[in-house]
Amino acid sequence: MISVYDLTELRSDCDRRGVYGRTLRAFLVAFFKRGEPWAGPMARVPDESRLRIVERLAGPCLKLVARLDSQIDGASKLVFEVAPGRCFETVILRYPSGRTSLCLSSQVGCALRCRFCATGQMKRVEDLTRDQILGQVSAAQQQLAPEGRTVDNVVFMGMGEPFLNEAAVFAAIGVLTDGDAFNLPEPSVLVSTVLLPDVARRFQAEFPRVNVAVSLHSSRQHVRAKLMPIAARHSLDEIKPLLGELASTRRRGVMIEYVVLRGVNDSPEDADHLAEFLGELRCHVNLIPYNPIDGVELEAAPDDAIDAMSDRLRARGLCVTRRRSLGRDIEAACGQLIQRGLPIQGDGGELSSSVT
Ligand code: SAH
Repeated sequence: MISVYDLTELRSDCDRRGVYGRTLRAFLVAFFKRGEPWAGPMARVPDESRLRIVERLAGPCLKLVARLDSQIDGASKLVFEVAPGRCFETVILRYPSGRTSLCLSSQVGCALRCRFCATGQMKRVEDLTRDQILGQVSAAQQQLAPEGRTVDNVVFMGMGEPFLNEAAVFAAIGVLTDGDAFNLPEPSVLVSTVLLPDVARRFQAEFPRVNVAVSLHSSRQHVRAKLMPIAARHSLDEIKPLLGELASTRRRGVMIEYVVLRGVNDSPEDADHLAEFLGELRCHVNLIPYNPIDGVELEAAPDDAIDAMSDRLRARGLCVTRRRSLGRDIEAACGQLIQRGLPIQGDGGELSSSVT
């Protein structure tokens, strides 16, 4: 069987067997761009071609076990099961502007154990395959199609560290941006990472226009290393030149992510230090209000500290935005993704809208 996401194999198989480009294209447009459920575009392939391609084509492989809709904003969380009892999550973010983002997971769990992030508390870490990563997009498209929405951009900000699952993530980005498949412009894909230097160099060589967000959280080495154990291995001195390289090929430079924590990294001196560290780097700083995690003794910085930090950075010439995390009520906000056991299935095959 050929996976529908294996475009190289699919194209050459169709070529070899003389399936008309038109037939293949109509099929791909219906599946990838209109987000039709697998069976629809399959059934419309003319009989003769169907014999030639359809029998050997494998569709999305993910099992959606629950959908939770936020009651306070436009977030929905999709829960997928990879094996009995092992789940991961994707978050749909509907913005008032009409745009729709998708927050993808690249791993089940995460090995990095950043102190402020719930995903690192999951015991087991498992890489998602290319098809499991892309299956999240297909599933979301199918949920969104009845609303007249499509996925405008995807961010790798769900569970996992994308650079620790390099092969699958790189392959998935290839399909997300392929004109025959999801056809997203490269800048509509964003990878959020702690920045592992070797992988970052290969990423830069392969995807110079795909957007990058770097989880910095502090410009002081000892503070960053306390928050993020990986920072002890790859110091700020080591990653700094890479930031410049990444910024050089992207229209808007790189995004610098900064979770603002009371008494840890939220003082005026911290703002000045950060501005100094970033210097002339083409970047924009995204200040992220901390979403509290069970069992972690960290506190969100007060709103006025975040405002003051933002003003101070702006006064130093930096571009600053503040993240509005959606989906707090369904534990879908940044850093809240963790598997807490299987959601309950609703009656009559309906998906449940609450988790116990
Ligand atoms: N492993 C990737 C993607 C993780 S999630 C990375 O580290 O970049 C995306 C962002 O959410 C990261 O910047 C992460 O630091 C941030 N985040 C993690 N836990 C959070 C929390 N509890 N509150 C707010 N943001 C959080």
